[in-house]
Amino acid sequence: MVGIIGGGQLARMCAPVAVNLDITLSVLCETPESAAGLVVPSAPVGDYTDVDTVLEFARDCDVITFDHEHVPQDVLHALVATGVPVHPSPEALVFAQNKLAMRERLTSMAIPCPAWASVSTAEQLAAFGAEHGWPVVLKTPTGGYDGKGVLLVSSPQEAADWLAHGEPLLAEEAVDFLRELAVLVARSPSGQAAAWPVVHTVQTDGICTEVLAPAPQLVPDLAARATEAALRIAGDLGVTGVMAMEIFELPEGGFVVNELAMRPHNSGHWTMDGSVTSQFEQHLRAVLDLPLGSPRPREQWTVMTNVLGGQDEDLYPTYRHLMARDPELKIHLYGKAVRPGRKIGHVNLTGTDLADLRERGRHAADYLEGTVRE
Ligand code: ADP
Repeated sequence: MVGIIGGGQLARMCAPVAVNLDITLSVLCETPESAAGLVVPSAPVGDYTDVDTVLEFARDCDVITFDHEHVPQDVLHALVATGVPVHPSPEALVFAQNKLAMRERLTSMAIPCPAWASVSTAEQLAAFGAEHGWPVVLKTPTGGYDGKGVLLVSSPQEAADWLAHGEPLLAEEAVDFLRELAVLVARSPSGQAAAWPVVHTVQTDGICTEVLAPAPQLVPDLAARATEAALRIAGDLGVTGVMAMEIFELPEGGFVVNELAMRPHNSGHWTMDGSVTSQFEQHLRAVLDLPLGSPRPREQWTVMTNVLGGQDEDLYPTYRHLMARDPELKIHLYGKAVRPGRKIGHVNLTGTDLADLRERGRHAADYLEGTVRE
């Protein structure tokens, strides 16, 4: 049995794969309504920050993995001490939990990163801004997602609230990038690794709204170097399972790494319909140390469009219309309560005409969100 800590949409999307491979899942959910808890028979509800709860959950599991990066290190180490395999390990996961630790480690590996520093005081921030220019991007080292925990500041005064906590913050140069890309790889405990093509993650207001796979007009040399960097990071850090490396493509050529995630990732949802092996299947194969599947794309292009919550609570009439309008459309909903702006699903389209796929994906997402009515 594979135990997944966190019952969100990522654990949920592992469920169909687990059914097909006859793998039993158990998910530790935060609430009875958790996206995965609704579809996985074994779905105890409990606090993933509580050691006893997590150890009790893990007792019947053959391997433990995660839906998110927020399980505290002491809980992870207590799990490892029981002898159950934990993938990724706490030693690897720390670099996805803590952006300061990640910057330090990647810099020591000579992986290109934005200029950065750890700052705890207004003086340190002023010195960083004086050296690298304003505005400066400030980040909380832990707990950020979808742009929360990221602040663009033009002076130390603007960061006063954040600095008041006295905790070290990550200061980064504001990178003037061409576009945001992501490299998705998987690595098994035996060291086998596989990489999907580099994708373009289109962002709107700090949220990924669309993924184009592969990234259009990407210079082959950049794709090769970024993929090599992601595989080297996964190997050197001992990552097991799926890892996403988010990068910024630079106008002068090359890239810098933004951040790492060690789990199936939004930038890989296109693989469910666009690749021989989806990231969810690959993650389960990797954490069970099974041979990995082919990451080869099935079609020239796949476009993934995220669906955000809109006004409509009941999506059934909406997707009924979309199914009739576009029989090629693949709809994936997460069973989450609809709240404006919340990621509640995504749609995938594959084919040869990228502009057409984007237009149809956008329409379907807008229709599900209720912003267009026909
Ligand atoms: P989160 O952990 O919330 O996803 P990220 O570190 O990915 O936060 O940052 C969110 C977004 O902010 C990025 O997708 C990017 O658009 C922007 N961003 C982050 N770091 C920088 C930077 N150093 N320079 C310019 N933009 C940045």
